[in-house]
Amino acid sequence: MKRIKKYLLPIVMLLLFETVAVTLWLTKDNLFYLFNFSYIGCSIALGVFLYIRKYKYARRIVQLLVGLYMLVYLGLISNENMQIEGFWYYLFTGVFEAATIHYAVAKIFGPLIFGRGWCGYACWTAMVLDFLPYKTPSQPRKKLGWIRYLTFAASLIFVSALFLAKVGNLERIMFWAFLVGNVLYYAVGIVLAFVMKDNRAFCKYICPITVFLKPMSYFALFRIKCDKEKCVNCGKCKRVCPMDVDVTDNSRRRKNGTECILCMECVKNCPKDAL
Ligand code: SF4
Ligand code: SF4
Ligand code: SF4
Repeated sequence: MKRIKKYLLPIVMLLLFETVAVTLWLTKDNLFYLFNFSYIGCSIALGVFLYIRKYKYARRIVQLLVGLYMLVYLGLISNENMQIEGFWYYLFTGVFEAATIHYAVAKIFGPLIFGRGWCGYACWTAMVLDFLPYKTPSQPRKKLGWIRYLTFAASLIFVSALFLAKVGNLERIMFWAFLVGNVLYYAVGIVLAFVMKDNRAFCKYICPITVFLKPMSYFALFRIKCDKEKCVNCGKCKRVCPMDVDVTDNSRRRKNGTECILCMECVKNCPKDAL
């Protein structure tokens, strides 16, 4: 019984994803959804299980399992554009399929429950950026967050223009947009990380998806909270946070609160188990 209680979270995660998998499989009559969400659910449950077992690389394993699956299998092999342009494309064509479902679950409605868990455990851009040497920012955050609105608008204008101009062979164009977009993301992300000495600089200033993620994760059910009775204000949690979150402030308006990627570095490093 004690053991079941200890591993309740991975079991719940698995059941949650299986429910989504079976529901979509039956309602959409497509076996892909059963495979897709079962695979993602198993990967996440495995990560949570390893985290409970205090395995150091638990998060990185989930990130690689989910990120590589999405990039290589869904993106490159199945030609599914899961970038933001793909989302606009499928939205405009009225097709509620993989990319739109993916955005709805991971980036629009899911963050109401698990915040920016996507950014910590599944994103294939951050999967690569997290290998770089600047795991915690060495300089204060810059006021460059407005750039995300430009990249967001650019993606929307690009796809709208293709529709307005009635360009043919859009499926093929979307595949190439996925390839070029990813190469650009990686190039900009890696250069920025080295220039700003911050692996997550791309996430903080450029990524268009944060336009969805930030407001939705403000209301997240699952968030890191600080036990003020235990906290001794040593500041370690803030020093190890890759996203500059003021995690000891329990209010929803805490500084950079919508930037938390649930990486658990603060929790792991708190000497008083206050988080
Ligand atoms: S902010 Fe964007 S690039 Fe960074 S992890 Fe989240 S989705 Fe990926
Ligand atoms: S690391 Fe723990 S004890 Fe130190 S400030 Fe953060 S929550 Fe408080
Ligand atoms: S270190 Fe803590 S507050 Fe910072 S992003 Fe990770 S989980 Fe969130």
